[in-house]
Amino acid sequence: MIEFEQFEDTVTCIKTASPLGGQAIMWVYAYHVEDVVIDAGCWNAVEELRTFTKKHKVKRVFVTHNHEDHYGGCAAFLPEAEVFTGPITLESLREPYPLPEFFQFVWGRPEPVTEGKQLEATSIEVGEFSFEVVNLSGHCEEMVGFWEPERKWFFSSDAVPLPSRKQMSMPEENIPKMIIRMQEIRNRDVAVLFDGHRGPILDPQDHIDKRIQFLSNLQVQVQDMVAEGKTVPEMKQVLGFPEPWYLPNTERRFGVEHLIRSLAEDKV
Ligand SMILES: [Zn+2]
Repeated sequence: MIEFEQFEDTVTCIKTASPLGGQAIMWVYAYHVEDVVIDAGCWNAVEELRTFTKKHKVKRVFVTHNHEDHYGGCAAFLPEAEVFTGPITLESLREPYPLPEFFQFVWGRPEPVTEGKQLEATSIEVGEFSFEVVNLSGHCEEMVGFWEPERKWFFSSDAVPLPSRKQMSMPEENIPKMIIRMQEIRNRDVAVLFDGHRGPILDPQDHIDKRIQFLSNLQVQVQDMVAEGKTVPEMKQVLGFPEPWYLPNTERRFGVEHLIRSLAEDKV
């Protein structure tokens, strides 16, 4: 399914999702600015995205990272548009990684895209806008965001966690690095944060601060337990974070222990 939301005159939010009982299971946002889209939505909305591309000019697609909800819709923009992204994401575009059935249901299994090009530019010109390409690795090994300093817009993809109290993660998430990335975004005096799953956020400082604070406190707590010699399963028991019903369906792609391990290892 697809929905559109207009932000001011210039940004169209393209929301894609799989429906369940007529509702979106979870929205992912792509952003259309002039003839560019930032991220491509999910595969399960590829037909709706194709309809969109027939009516709107899209010449360039910039994919932020290699998670299937962000790159899955790329095929819909071809062959009219060029797709740009980092080398790790290019690899996933060419050969999408196997997905547990649960994620095939939630986002869809993307078809391979071989036409992608490596994003080498440090800034991109889009009509009247100039976007700085910003390294946001942390949520995964390779992720980029886009910063428009005139408007103070930051397209942050998945750099800022959706929940204010993030209690589980993927194994590739480096939580200490995510905290640093959020602090870096916070230091930019952002007016609007264009989040990958929440859309435009108009109070970004408060939004980011809550997430930095929760994870920083957790980092201290985990480090204290490391000093006491506690193991990850012991720390998990102490923290007592609830595990949602769908967690087993993710086949360990998400877990409370991944988050604790990342904080315990404390490598950035
Ligand atoms: Zn992601």
